[in-house]
Amino acid sequence: MRAIVTCECCGYRQAVARPIRRPEQFHVICHGCEGVLLVEVTSADLRQASTPTAGHAPQAAGGVGTSV
Ligand SMILES: [Zn+2]
Repeated sequence: MRAIVTCECCGYRQAVARPIRRPEQFHVICHGCEGVLLVEVTSADLRQASTPTAGHAPQAAGGVGTSV
């Protein structure tokens, strides 16, 4: 997924060009004020991001070792 991060200092919005496949936290540098932003991706965010907006893709029934 691609995360859109809004800086809480200056309100600058930027896309995080980083493949995110699991819940994690990381830092990005704001391009507006150069402040450090903590980005937290939750499993709910991932689930929402992976939901196709049109049609429906076949999904694995879950379990460990789901291939990319
Ligand atoms: Zn900023």
